[in-house]
Amino acid sequence: MGDVVRRALGKFTLYALDAGMQRLDGGAMFGVVPKPLWEKKIPADERNRIPLAMRTLLVETDGELILIDTGAGNKEDEKFRDIYGVENEGDPTALEDSIRAAGFAPDDVTLVVNTHLHFDHAGGDTVRRPDGEIVPAFPGVRHLVQKREWDFAHLRNERVKASYLPHNFDPVGEAGLFEFVAGEAEIVPGITLLPAPGHTPGHQSVRIESEGETALYVADLIPTVAHLPLPWIMGYDVEPLTTLETKRAVLGRVLEERTLLIFEHDPNTAWGYLSPQEKRPTLVAERPD
Ligand SMILES: [Zn+2]
Repeated sequence: MGDVVRRALGKFTLYALDAGMQRLDGGAMFGVVPKPLWEKKIPADERNRIPLAMRTLLVETDGELILIDTGAGNKEDEKFRDIYGVENEGDPTALEDSIRAAGFAPDDVTLVVNTHLHFDHAGGDTVRRPDGEIVPAFPGVRHLVQKREWDFAHLRNERVKASYLPHNFDPVGEAGLFEFVAGEAEIVPGITLLPAPGHTPGHQSVRIESEGETALYVADLIPTVAHLPLPWIMGYDVEPLTTLETKRAVLGRVLEERTLLIFEHDPNTAWGYLSPQEKRPTLVAERPD
């Protein structure tokens, strides 16, 4: 754990961080897709779980070091870690180790973006200290999330509450560090939060653009390469038909602009481009013409 892959995007540098692994039910990850189809893409373990990365992203610009998503954190008990197969130990977690492996200190982060507030995306927003107290992991740093996501995370209804653990984000809110966004917003020149609803109503992707090159941190809109085909939609999504239309629109624009796709949960692949030649979604390493 703690490995880093980096690449340039225009004048920015992207660092794909390894914030650990988790294992989620394969059926839940692929919704209506039958197991004989999905298990050829990502084989399940004896508990029907598939391995998933928690690949958070650092974007280095002229003046900012932006962290997108924070993994699962260090606050959950053994039972939770066993059910979800969380492996992210480090100092205090693999996220911080990976930030250091990229050549920075966790204190160097100037801005945190949460694509949404599920436990495997915002768990590292807070940290349990050795004395037991839970505090923001990036004190003094602004955290950006859609207002809709913040409200949805606090509904606490029976269908969604298992994914939203208040100790991941409420201490950050109490410290006044959350800044809410409504809709599309350019947060620093070249970096834009794009609403990508469906997985949750307030879920967002992050578009990164520099010197004519674009990248998209798609987050849970397309969690792995296997989820590229339109109907391969997670059972976790609260509005799957909205996911379908979001995906259709996003992938159309991605093809047109030759955008680098960045996958948060793919167990093997950090990023790639969609081939405009293939009818079936096919990932290639080099930017197509
Ligand atoms: Zn999620």
